[in-house]
Amino acid sequence: MLTELDQIEETALSTLDEAQDEAALETWRVTHLGRNSPLMGVFDNIGSLPKGERPAIGRRANEVKRALETALAEKAESLRQSSLAHALQAERLDVTLPGRPIRLGRLHPVTQTLREIYRIFAEMGFQVYLSREVETDEYNFQLLNFPPHHPAREMQDSYYIETGHDRGDNPLLLRTHTSPGQIRSMREFAAQDPENPPPVRIILPGMCYRYEQISARYEIQFTQVEGLAIGEHITFGDLKGTISDFGRRLLGQQVRTRFRASHFPFTEPSAEVDFECFLCGGEGCSVCKYTGWLEIMGCGMVHPTVLRNGGYDPLRYTGFAFGMGPERLTMLRHRIEDIRYFWANDLSFLEQF
Ligand SMILES: [Zn+2]
Repeated sequence: MLTELDQIEETALSTLDEAQDEAALETWRVTHLGRNSPLMGVFDNIGSLPKGERPAIGRRANEVKRALETALAEKAESLRQSSLAHALQAERLDVTLPGRPIRLGRLHPVTQTLREIYRIFAEMGFQVYLSREVETDEYNFQLLNFPPHHPAREMQDSYYIETGHDRGDNPLLLRTHTSPGQIRSMREFAAQDPENPPPVRIILPGMCYRYEQISARYEIQFTQVEGLAIGEHITFGDLKGTISDFGRRLLGQQVRTRFRASHFPFTEPSAEVDFECFLCGGEGCSVCKYTGWLEIMGCGMVHPTVLRNGGYDPLRYTGFAFGMGPERLTMLRHRIEDIRYFWANDLSFLEQF
């Protein structure tokens, strides 16, 4: 029996080296240490041996079992090590390869124009004032001198918001222009010192909405930037100087500016502002329709009623306001033919800027 155990041990250990992967190792384990292995057969038969032989056989059988288990564990560990070494070799990271470029996003072309406008007016001492996009009829129209049923409202038909409440003459709507921010900002400034309201120097940028027939020139959503300056002794001359300076800083020192009389409910007097065409230098081209001028913004002296509604006494304070469309400026600068490109989310368009 002892000879048989020697034989079992020798056979098992000599075949262990042939196992080169986990599956082969498991097969080896079942063959030599499993339930039906010769070694287990020895254990099963110990009970039938003469009493005197049992301790020696049992001891030897246990020795063989431990030897096989130890050899198995060592072999498993060495297999793990070599497969790890193999993986490290095969999957080694080559840090000398060039990296994959990260695709950088970019600013929307209108945002780029807006930021340039912010920069120029910031240099002139104007702060950015952000106002709400959902407005009341009162702020969007009435306080800006558009009474209910005023004909000028027809040019600014809007999207009204169902509230479930009867708000009478004061429904909620998406703002049709950034001008309600004039009233909100003036009231906020005036609240600081109602007796002596501080001067106002702000620009009001943001998205506006109108119920328009969408076409190459009109969208139902667009941005506006509006400027507002209120103080004592502010004149139309200050307005002209500020706008002309803006034109030069935006388009170049040689750019001339032209003011044409116009009408807006919230300014008096009012004017349209043209900048000399920066594409042809005033010679005349298809973009300026051969006039040499580009219509860029509307402006005027803040109407006394609007000043009063904002908390500024029109007998003591004056001010000017102006407004322009960043989409239009962007279209002119990049010769974009259709305003619908801006909000269509077409990457082939947006990636050009
Ligand atoms: Zn031109």
